[in-house]
This record gives sequence, structure tokens and C-alpha cells, in this order.
Amino acid sequence: MGYLRLRWLLRAVVIAAAAACVGGCVPKRGPRVEPMRQQVESATGLPQDVIGTSMGDLVITFVGHGTLMFACGGKVIHVDPWMQLADYLLLPKADLILITHEHRDHLDPAAVAAVREDDTQIILTEACAGKVAGGIVMKNGETRRLLGLTVEAAPAYNVVHMRAAGQPYHPKGSGNGYVITFGKTRVYVAGDTENTPEMKALQDIDVAFLPMNLPYTMTPEMVADGARAFKPRILYPYHYGETDTSELIERLKNDNIDIRIRPMK
Ligand SMILES: [Zn+2]
Repeated sequence: MGYLRLRWLLRAVVIAAAAACVGGCVPKRGPRVEPMRQQVESATGLPQDVIGTSMGDLVITFVGHGTLMFACGGKVIHVDPWMQLADYLLLPKADLILITHEHRDHLDPAAVAAVREDDTQIILTEACAGKVAGGIVMKNGETRRLLGLTVEAAPAYNVVHMRAAGQPYHPKGSGNGYVITFGKTRVYVAGDTENTPEMKALQDIDVAFLPMNLPYTMTPEMVADGARAFKPRILYPYHYGETDTSELIERLKNDNIDIRIRPMK
């Protein structure tokens, strides 16, 4: 753990210890992530959810657009950090950074520089590799063990929506989604994709983030079709731009999926 991150965590622990003592000195959500959750909340006001896993609580920070931060088991993971959405100097340093593809709203070298430390691991695609030093390229279908977690790279591409005839916004083989396994909890961040056969064949996904911004990714109908196929327990539409999230809720109302809408335009 780098010095800056250690110092940041220590500061968070001190602040949270003081806060926790008001309620009787009993941290309710595990000793490591709750101080960090409170620190992020007070520093940025970004919305957060907490989901229990066998590794302890998973804190999800909804940075906005296609950008997320996860914290679990003392590890911090930034997904597609983008300076336009948040002041990354106020967010915890990364143990792991996941980049889905090279478009500028997903790959922001300045945000990567703001959260990386010497020992931060960076997973990215081939098209991103020339823009961020020291990243590890993962191809579609590859799996790695990192920091006690399993990370799988899933394909992310367009089948229907095209920039021009024969030119998908996201060509097959170029972009990644990621399935991150925290203990026994499998979290799928789809990246910029449609409801591909590979998505529909996913197994045992507990939490899914599916994009819905148009015309680049999926309509609510396509998201509903994908989700109905692999049945996540919890579904967050994310990166949804101006698309109407209520249409997705209506389409999946009989499918027993917990759909959660967060500010992820
Ligand atoms: Zn995008």
C-alpha cells in the first residue's frame, strides 16, 4: 500500500472513529469500508449503495455516466474514472483500475494519473494500452486473479447500432465489460455494449450494470431482453443518458429483478 493511500485511510479511520462513537463506537458495516464510505460521502456527496458479500460489505459509489467506484475487503477499484464527473483528488487511491474502452468518456489519462499509485494495477484493452503506461491488456474472455478478486473480461460491442453501415459504435473484440467476483458475489459492469449472445449466456450474476445511452448502446427493450436472459439479482441501468428508465422498469415488472435507478446519466 502506497504512503498516500495509507495516509488517506488513516485519516478516514480517525474521522469515522469519531463519528462512530456518537452512535456507541460500533461500526455497523465492517471496519474497513465504512470509514471510507463516510469519507467519500462527506467529501463528494456522491450517492452510494452497500451490498453485503462473503468478503464483507461492497460499497458502490455512483460517480456518474459509465463511471463507478467499488470498495470491498479493503480494496478500492475505479472503473472508467473520468475527471469531468468528479474531483478524483477527493476520492481514494486505486488498488485496481478497470478501463472498458478507449473512448474519451471511459479512458481519461488525467483521472487515471490522479488515482494511481506505484502498486496500482490497471486493466485495460489493447486500444487503451498506448495511452496509459503500465496497464495490463485483457482480451475478451480472459480471466485473472488480482488482489484476491477474480476479474473476467467480457465482450462489449454493438450488433445493431452503427455509426454508418458496417461500422458499429463499438466493434466486436475491442471493448471489455468486466465481471468482478467479491467473495461469492459476482458483479458485471457491461461497458458500452448491446445485449450480445455472450451477455445473455452469463451465469450467476448478482449485480449488473447495463448501459442504455442511445444511439450508442441499448434501448430499454434490449436491456430488458439481456437481463431476462441472465437474470441478475440486482440491475442498475447505468450510462443511460436521456433514455427513459421508467420504460425499463415497466418492461421487467414481472421478472423478479431488483431494478435500482441511480443518477448515472
Ligand atoms: Zn460510453
